[in-house]
Amino acid sequence: MQSQGFVIPVKQRWRQVYYGLGLLCYDLLSGRRKWGRTTALTRSELREKFPKVADQGAIGGLRYSDGKFDDVGLALSLAKASAEKGAVLVNHCSAVGINKNEGTITGVTVKDHFSGESHDIEARVVINACGPFGDALCRLDNPHHENRLQPSQGIHLVFDGEVMPGEDAVLIPKTDDGRILFAVPWMGKVLVGTTDTALDEVTPEPLAQEDEIDFVLDHANRHLGLQLKRSDIRSVFAGLRPLIKGRKDETSDLSRSHNVSMSSSGLINVRGGKWTTYRKMAEDTLAFIRRKKRLDFSPADTRYSRIVEGPLPDRIHVPEGTDELRSAVGKAVDEEMCATVEDFLARRFRTLFLDAKHAISLAPQVADLLAEAQGFSAEWAQQQTATFQQLAQGYLPKTS
Ligand SMILES: Cc1cc2nc3c(=O)[nH]c(=O)nc-3n(C[C@H](O)[C@H](O)[C@H](O)COP(=O)(O)OP(=O)(O)OC[C@H]3O[C@@H](n4cnc5c(N)ncnc54)[C@H](O)[C@@H]3O)c2cc1C
Repeated sequence: MQSQGFVIPVKQRWRQVYYGLGLLCYDLLSGRRKWGRTTALTRSELREKFPKVADQGAIGGLRYSDGKFDDVGLALSLAKASAEKGAVLVNHCSAVGINKNEGTITGVTVKDHFSGESHDIEARVVINACGPFGDALCRLDNPHHENRLQPSQGIHLVFDGEVMPGEDAVLIPKTDDGRILFAVPWMGKVLVGTTDTALDEVTPEPLAQEDEIDFVLDHANRHLGLQLKRSDIRSVFAGLRPLIKGRKDETSDLSRSHNVSMSSSGLINVRGGKWTTYRKMAEDTLAFIRRKKRLDFSPADTRYSRIVEGPLPDRIHVPEGTDELRSAVGKAVDEEMCATVEDFLARRFRTLFLDAKHAISLAPQVADLLAEAQGFSAEWAQQQTATFQQLAQGYLPKTS
């Protein structure tokens, strides 16, 4: 976890006081002080950091600090740490059926995405932690299950770092329609987001909608004093928030917290939540399972467990030389269950999210090396290249 400074420009003095008090309380309650204290910025201090932002009528600002982490690095580290503790991890495999005996869950049927084969796995406890796809899994358990989630899509646009130099991020707490807008320095680029679009259906590869791209571009230009065009976008990507349905219509008003429950057949469902609370979600789920007497075990205290690897700064840029690339692909295959071009260019390295065109150009070489490392044919590599390049087109905005 690293500290990330955020600057909120303000146009009225009362807003500086209002946000300042809120941030000070948050600093005290959240223990965020370790990242740095909240300070008020004069107009000239704001201008020094973000001259174009200051020119949009700001009278000053506030600077606060928060934690920033590498999601891919943490996910890989958690996977490795759990494997070290004895977990059996399976990649590219989906639960396609819930098996029961007299109405009680006895395990799942899983399908291998590559071979197409199905396997039955026995289990005393099955936890549905499928995030935004959780309702679909519930329907395998109970075809009459009514949706409990309201998935919401958020998009990010990635630009070259020069569009907003400096180490601090800018946050606009309220755009015209009440949403948050931010621009954060990210792996040498600038990440601008986000939207909060309610979705009726979710797919594994959510696509940024044209009006979402327009919204972020328009608001970034208006509030940050930039002149960004679609052709400046290096990559656009969408993510899904697994929000729990509530009484509010706007997904931005729905709670980001989580809950754990059990179906009549014994399926444990953990819904909602976010990265920040992943450990609490896991603790609550295990405590729930013990309380319901589904499994008897002594709770592990993981507060001081070492996660195998920290952030992976060398994962930003794919190595350039063929030998270096071959070695990186080999390591990813041997140590990190990397199987496809997408695995490598999006989820072991971040090329697809940083520069989609560059990722498209690297795909054939990566596919050949993956085929070599896994003993697959040239046809497999060609098919992988085509599949990835088609997927990566979705990360490039339409420019005309
Ligand atoms: C724009 C945006 C900004 C965000 N910002 C933050 C932030 O600042 N801080 C924060 O903490 N959180 C943030 N979040 C939220 C956070 O990213 C998500 O809440 C989190 O990624 C959800 O994790 P998850 O594991 O529940 O779901 P996912 O990451 O979607 O994982 C679900 C997994 O279940 C698998 N799956 C689905 N169906 C099956 C099946 N049948 N069998 C087996 N596996 C299956 C999928 O393949 C997937 O791997 C943000 C989200 C978005 C969209």
